[in-house]
Amino acid sequence: MADTGKQVKRKIIHIDMDAFYASVEQRDFPEYRGKPLVVGGLPEGRGGVVATASYEARKFGIRSAMSSKQALQLCPHALFVRPRFAAYKEVSQKIREIFSRYTDLIEPLSLDEAYLDVSNDKLNIGSAIEIAQQIKDAIKNELNLTASAGVSVNKFVAKIASDIKKPDGLTFIGPSSVESFMESLPIEKFYGVGKVTAGKMKKLGLFTGADLKKLTEEEMTRSFGKAGAFYYRIVRGMDDREVQPHRETKSMGAEDTFAYDLTGQEEMHAELAKIAKTVHDRLLKYQLKGRTITLKIKYSDFRQITRSQSLPNCTDEMEILLSTTKNLLAATDIENSRIRLLGITVSNFLPMPVNNKPPTDQLSLFDI
Ligand SMILES: [Mg+2]
Repeated sequence: MADTGKQVKRKIIHIDMDAFYASVEQRDFPEYRGKPLVVGGLPEGRGGVVATASYEARKFGIRSAMSSKQALQLCPHALFVRPRFAAYKEVSQKIREIFSRYTDLIEPLSLDEAYLDVSNDKLNIGSAIEIAQQIKDAIKNELNLTASAGVSVNKFVAKIASDIKKPDGLTFIGPSSVESFMESLPIEKFYGVGKVTAGKMKKLGLFTGADLKKLTEEEMTRSFGKAGAFYYRIVRGMDDREVQPHRETKSMGAEDTFAYDLTGQEEMHAELAKIAKTVHDRLLKYQLKGRTITLKIKYSDFRQITRSQSLPNCTDEMEILLSTTKNLLAATDIENSRIRLLGITVSNFLPMPVNNKPPTDQLSLFDI
């Protein structure tokens, strides 16, 4: 590895629960066991999507973020249930408690996924692989659920590794094999590479990590911008990102860019209602209440403004979100404006108990 001067040696574990929401449902309701189960929006509802599909449902091609209607087409006898976030959150806290026996450096990514830095080896176990195994065993024995683990020297490789032998897998990519592992990795497996970028890479004849490695840092940046510089380093096993235990959610919101510019108050209000609903659902999902509500407006000429109002009390209520943003909108000059984007953000949250921190990303997957 070139440029190893500043490379910090870490032992990172990425733990990812297997089909989390569906597994919790199958654990709690024996009648769902062994059946194709979809947790998410119901297929008869409008715009429902799959949050999690059980492994039995995945055999029919059902995947997360797919519309529930499509899932039903793929498997007409699938069972559909609405998510029980309070239950998942409770399990998530128990999982977090298991992690905390082994390390204080825990970075939750969502209810069912976290990075752990076990370099410090709190219990003197001696091996990161053994720590990962013990965590998996504790989750199985105490919670009756399975998790998959990836163990490596950095976050990027640990996260890819946890996905290799799902479900109930444990994959170790040691320091000496990181580079060859990255070289053999298909570009789609680099997380953060979306379909568009993958298509662009393939057009350039880039199919694996080894192909990416042939490009200079400048070439990577020229073709893929900031992400290009990141991939240049990642493919060489260079990922110094720390496990950050105190990342907190500072704000939560949603916005929508419209197919055509909005001109009348009525259509603006209708769009605000939809956005307020999404924000409301997200606040509920993460059990957040905020005091400050911000309206973002982008005009047809791309000029952008934000207007905020702080309330006497924290709220997650949709009516309040909507009435506040309508007032903020009314205070702008809407008469003669053409609006291409509206957004609502809630911030200034109630302080939460230490063990009750909301996850910090992956909010887009579950807008039902
Ligand atoms: Mg998972």
